[in-house]
Amino acid sequence: MFTMSNDDFSVHLRDCDEVGSGIPVTSLPDEVTSLDDLPCACWDKFDSIDEVE
Ligand SMILES: [Zn+2]
Repeated sequence: MFTMSNDDFSVHLRDCDEVGSGIPVTSLPDEVTSLDDLPCACWDKFDSIDEVE
């Protein structure tokens, strides 16, 4: 489960401290194809996008 920011529609981990309130989403948007598309620090624990799903 992820959270999409209400402010800029960026996607974060559910426990991200940065995102605050947002929209719960169950999968990554189609336009997210690599960790480069997920600039927030909450994704830093992943080495590749394949580990996220
Ligand atoms: Zn985040």
